[in-house]
Amino acid sequence: MVARHDQTAAPVLLESLLQARRGTAFFARKLNELSDAELDGGSLLPGWTRRHVVAHVGYNARAVARLIEWAATGVETPMYGSPEARNHEIEFGATLSPIALRHLFDHSAVHLNVEWRDLPADAWHHKVKTAQGRTVPAEETVWMRTREVWLHAVDLDNGAGFNDIPAPVLERLLGDITGAWHTRGTDAGLVLEIDGTRLTFGDTSTTNATTIAGPLPAVVQWAAGRGGSGVTASGPGATVPAPPKWI
Ligand code: ZN
Repeated sequence: MVARHDQTAAPVLLESLLQARRGTAFFARKLNELSDAELDGGSLLPGWTRRHVVAHVGYNARAVARLIEWAATGVETPMYGSPEARNHEIEFGATLSPIALRHLFDHSAVHLNVEWRDLPADAWHHKVKTAQGRTVPAEETVWMRTREVWLHAVDLDNGAGFNDIPAPVLERLLGDITGAWHTRGTDAGLVLEIDGTRLTFGDTSTTNATTIAGPLPAVVQWAAGRGGSGVTASGPGATVPAPPKWI
């Protein structure tokens, strides 16, 4: 029997699923606004055309769906065979015809949604492993996908901006990014000032501390490595520096 609605009744999880579905619909809208010829154009990601972005988002849905199958069956199925296999797949996907590329996105998104919808309530706690090797409960896949669709909709570079991303998604994304800086130790002497609220990272007692200030969407855009428009910097040097690496 195939269920017609989510098997989970957990309010937080249902809210997260809604955010992922909204992000998927948003990505679909931006993709549909692009002509076939425009798919050949550049994205915000260095070395990637829009085709690469669409292929990546499609294969990502398939990879996340594999984790849900893992959670449902207990049979270990990794997201990707290897980092090389993942990159190969994207390179191949970027060569598909425009119609095949659009189908890849549509079908993979529908398939993932069905996997999520049909996952029994208790299986959302089952542990799976991300491509980075982190062990997480299956419910974490919803956030993993949410992040991808919103961020890469902006990367399509046809009008979407961080202003379009819901504030709860921006806040959690910033948490991921600053968490990665902390783990890597790359956040030394950095202050983020978001709408007047100061968040400090690393040792800011030195005279070298840099402050990046702006509204939440602009600060997250900068932190995610998508450019410094909308933020101002104070500290050493007058220009906005590149953010620490997070991925
Ligand atoms: Zn991605």
